[in-house]
Amino acid sequence: MTALTSLTLKAALDGLKAKQFSSMELTKAHIAAVEAARPLNAYILETPEAALASAEASDARLAKGEAGALEGAPLGIKDLFCTKDVRATACSKILGDFQPPYESTVTSNLWRDGALMLGKLNMDEFAMGSSNETSAFGPVVNPWRIAGSNKSLTPGGSSGGSASAVAADLCLGATATDTGGSIRQPAAFTGTVGIKPTYGRCSRWGVVAFASSLDQAGPIAKTVEDAAILLKSMSGHDPKDSTSLDIEVPDFASFVGKSVKGLRIGVPKEYRVDGMPAEIEKLWQDGINWLKEAGCEIVEVSLPHTKYALPAYYIVAPAEASSNLARYDGMRYGLRAEGGNLTEIYENTRAEGFGAEVKRRILIGTYVLSAGYYDAYYLKAQKVRRRIADDFEQAWQKCDALLTPTAPSAAFGLGENSNDPIAMYLNDVFTVTTNLAGLPSMSVPAGLDAQGLPLGLQIIGRPLDEGTVFSIGGAIEKAAGFAGKKAERWW
Ligand code: GLN
Repeated sequence: MTALTSLTLKAALDGLKAKQFSSMELTKAHIAAVEAARPLNAYILETPEAALASAEASDARLAKGEAGALEGAPLGIKDLFCTKDVRATACSKILGDFQPPYESTVTSNLWRDGALMLGKLNMDEFAMGSSNETSAFGPVVNPWRIAGSNKSLTPGGSSGGSASAVAADLCLGATATDTGGSIRQPAAFTGTVGIKPTYGRCSRWGVVAFASSLDQAGPIAKTVEDAAILLKSMSGHDPKDSTSLDIEVPDFASFVGKSVKGLRIGVPKEYRVDGMPAEIEKLWQDGINWLKEAGCEIVEVSLPHTKYALPAYYIVAPAEASSNLARYDGMRYGLRAEGGNLTEIYENTRAEGFGAEVKRRILIGTYVLSAGYYDAYYLKAQKVRRRIADDFEQAWQKCDALLTPTAPSAAFGLGENSNDPIAMYLNDVFTVTTNLAGLPSMSVPAGLDAQGLPLGLQIIGRPLDEGTVFSIGGAIEKAAGFAGKKAERWW
């Protein structure tokens, strides 16, 4: 069992094609691993029967030589994705037992290519959070622990279930989403690879909306190559999402392992923030050195509006969220609370159904959009957003990609930041910029800190240049020698 679940996606796909094992065996091994790992709380819904039925169908296709690109591969799906006739809650009580009558485009693309679903993964409620603690299903536990301690750590958020499941070998890869860092920060906290592609690469159709101008789907995977394989399947034009890009999807995996010689790597000086642990500073320097050794040219660049990114994000994202979440009123689907009249039903449903962080976002969003405050907050934030995008445009004159840390710390303890929203929001300081600018960005595990916890480096690329991001990610992965490092099993 252990051997099959510890394979990378690529190795598993190769093994299936070479008939070294069947999808049925691979899937059974994963189902057993998922059951044994319930203390991690990564899966909030397991779908073993459907997984086994899909595995059988995949084995039949493999036998006939009709295998798709992901044929027979068991994956985990973040609960933000609508899955036909399978409960999708966004980890909010307000959706109740909602069973979508349709499938999201991203997951449909994965099934089209032969992948199968093991179950739905835990996350922060409506993807609002950086620690998975806002989930109505309780927090996810990071498989990684501080050396010699049994304290429970966060896997990050909002895609904490996806990150934990991949790190603990509970699937070969997972879907995730990133509005302000929710793919990259959990990837950094769990020693996994996560990429948020260019805005518009993946269709948002059937992904529960948080902040539509920032939301993007992407994979969390065990290796850079696995992330490339998954992203290729997930991407593509979809007429059902008007922001989906009608352009060719490159073979991302072909960029992994490609030489990075001659690439100019920008190091933005504004990402050197106060109070950043020395170890993260050092890791960043390691990354710079590795890329230099691989033949890259390192250039210092300036992104002068970086310090306004977090405040701008925490205006734009809640503003869009307050609008998107207006649909949860107890009338159409999900939870309905009792009340004497229509308004009372609305009020009671929303009071009961939304958790504290979601309510905070709705209040902030409603405030910054209201007459009298709109210009001072929302409009101003939109202007800042433009400036941040312009900063990147300037940087591309001098470099081909940027290298930064992914997060300002390693994984922290559950409960440590949950009473201080500002401390929690600060986790996103290096990640929100690329959502505001719509750029592709990846987190690659680059080392362990002194406590034995994984740390990630972030690579930011030009719009639509995921290829270069994958090449650099591959180079860092190789130089860091992180591949194969796993959390010691305690669950
Ligand atoms: N942590 C950020 C937030 O709470 C980002 C979340 C996300 O990317 N979905 O908004």
